[in-house]
Amino acid sequence: MKVLKMLHRRTHRIRFRRLQIAFTAFLVLGFVLAAERGNVRYESYEAELGILEDSVFADGGKPVSRKPDSLLIYHGGNGISVYIRDEFVEVLEEMKIAYEEADLAMDPELNPDAYDKISIALNDLSLLGEAVFGLLDWVRDGGSLLFLYPMDNNGSLQVISGELGIRENGYQYTVVESVCFTGDLMLGGAQKEYRITDPFQSSMSVILDEECRVYMTEGGERNVPLLWERERGEGKIVVMNLGIMEKAYRGFYSAAYSLLGDSCLYPVINGSAFYLDDFPSPVPGGQGEYIQRDYGMDVATFYSNVWWPDVLSLAEDYGIRYTGVVIEEYSDLTEPPLPRYQDVYRFRYFGNQVLQHNGEIGFHGYNHMPLCLESFDYQGLYTYEKWPDLDAMESALTELNDFCASLFPDETFQVYVPPSNILSEEGRQLIAERFPQIRTIASIYFPGAMSYSQEFEVAEDGVIETPRIISGCMIDEYMEIAALSELNLHYVNSHFQHPDDVLDPERGAALGWETMIARLTEYVDWLYTAAPEIRNLTGSEMAAAVQRYYYVNLQVDQSEEEMVITLDSFADEAWFFLRTNTWEPGEVRGGSLTRLTGNLYLLEASSQRITIGKEGA
Ligand SMILES: [Zn+2]
Repeated sequence: MKVLKMLHRRTHRIRFRRLQIAFTAFLVLGFVLAAERGNVRYESYEAELGILEDSVFADGGKPVSRKPDSLLIYHGGNGISVYIRDEFVEVLEEMKIAYEEADLAMDPELNPDAYDKISIALNDLSLLGEAVFGLLDWVRDGGSLLFLYPMDNNGSLQVISGELGIRENGYQYTVVESVCFTGDLMLGGAQKEYRITDPFQSSMSVILDEECRVYMTEGGERNVPLLWERERGEGKIVVMNLGIMEKAYRGFYSAAYSLLGDSCLYPVINGSAFYLDDFPSPVPGGQGEYIQRDYGMDVATFYSNVWWPDVLSLAEDYGIRYTGVVIEEYSDLTEPPLPRYQDVYRFRYFGNQVLQHNGEIGFHGYNHMPLCLESFDYQGLYTYEKWPDLDAMESALTELNDFCASLFPDETFQVYVPPSNILSEEGRQLIAERFPQIRTIASIYFPGAMSYSQEFEVAEDGVIETPRIISGCMIDEYMEIAALSELNLHYVNSHFQHPDDVLDPERGAALGWETMIARLTEYVDWLYTAAPEIRNLTGSEMAAAVQRYYYVNLQVDQSEEEMVITLDSFADEAWFFLRTNTWEPGEVRGGSLTRLTGNLYLLEASSQRITIGKEGA
């Protein structure tokens, strides 16, 4: 019965869809005629957030000189400890936490009294020796201690496991297949269960006492606790039992760290960007198997009449502002002269639509050959032609620039997306030295075979790195985790898709466009439910936001009554996450505070000095 109903609904939807298509086609045709006759030109969109000269940020990016109140303990002679340390340092650096490190291999003596927050990067507590008792005393006196990683069930853990709230602990690690949040610790966390790709025996199988406050559990029936805290005396112990430390999980660890102490403040980017790769570009002729199957039309008609209206209406529904990156043509020419592509009608039409919807046009390539010379090794994975020399690469970008400038004369092209996310060192240098108008490179966040992978930062040559985190319509489990993580670490979303996703079975084409766009919509809906306040930015605005995030430095001074934040390298705006663990924010001066979820706030700084009154401390 249920199946029948669904079938019925589906046919109904398809019939409705056909009507919609006919209607859209009619509209598009009307628009085409108007555009051709009236030579429609669009007002160029003035970026709300501009990229500044680096000199504006005096002393930016330098480590702060204040005395760190945070300590990271590890053991340089222990491989797992070094791995945990290396991963967590990335988190602390992105949060701009001033910290010191203690390597037990160099000096087993610890001086916890100099710090408020201590993180332990060990899975074998025997490496701490007697020092563990000093740490527990320090906690009772008011310190906050974070165990970053599941610990071996040995004598050293057993001696203190009661302090950690562990009542029972199995000798086998448990396989965690999914993660659930018990409350609102992370933005978007409680909205769903997050499945873990390639699960393994990652976590201690523990049962806790009732004094523990659990934030995250395994999604299965056993509900194994994955993150909890327990107050001890004046202080607090936090245990992270997830056992997965990699780039896609950084935001889980920043959230755990933010539970330490009275409060935690760290800068964020505050931006959501959506890129359309190879758009505009020449539309492939002929038929696509799945498009023909589902829509009975050729690829070019499908793009104009179905794909683009759907992609656009997603933007209109959620306020997305696309950054379309241009491919002039699809030859494999790498020897100049590179002929101008002549059939510009679709470029102008789609490009102007992107601009009209407050989007931006950037560069992708003259063609799709990455900027790599003969010396570059594609390791048999790609068959791209290589460029003979720097001048040839330069002429390709020059031709692309002239082509785009002729189509969109009022635009400045500041965003570069490397084809296939591949960019050689020479290509990278060429962009910085010979194309100063390109201020940002939007490649990819996660490392992969020969990809140009990035952090959110300003490179030494001033180019701003704005990686894309997830892609395509079929947002998989890994991308969901990564999106959740980055929303909570950097307060950022960065996504790209290609028009030809719909032709590629590996990107979901066989499921049909209707399923694909529905899945993407589901993601977008998740994002804006989790973070309705996040700013919608184009590629260059994202770069501008990264620039301010990267350079800003902060000093926090606390008293009983207020929190005083002093900023360094503050230009015109800066954003922060503030988690208050023991107090409620009162009056704010020099900025404004928006509650995001639970005790997590978004602080917008509008001056160099911000004070936040404390209530209920
Ligand atoms: Zn591409």
